[in-house]
Amino acid sequence: MNTGADTVLVTVAQIVEGFGLSAGRVRAWIAAGMLKPIRREGRGRSGQMLFCRGEVGSLVYGLCPVCGGGFKRSTLKQRHCSRLCRDRERRAREKGAKP
Ligand SMILES: [Zn+2]
Repeated sequence: MNTGADTVLVTVAQIVEGFGLSAGRVRAWIAAGMLKPIRREGRGRSGQMLFCRGEVGSLVYGLCPVCGGGFKRSTLKQRHCSRLCRDRERRAREKGAKP
């Protein structure tokens, strides 16, 4: 899936529905500046923010550096598909082995 080329604009509600995230998490990403609106429609509280769907996808979906598999992040810090892969990488690093 090439999410980088996906330039469809989506609202917060569409992100919540389309990616299966909680509205709170999406808002936290926006507040943290990790997700930036491409465009705003309307003003004030009723204003709607529009985001690039491909950008959301690259936040939500990661590629595991150990096994190369795609996964859905449960937190933004998550870099591996599973604890197993995370441990594998850590062990390799501790041994000083080159990946
Ligand atoms: Zn993995």
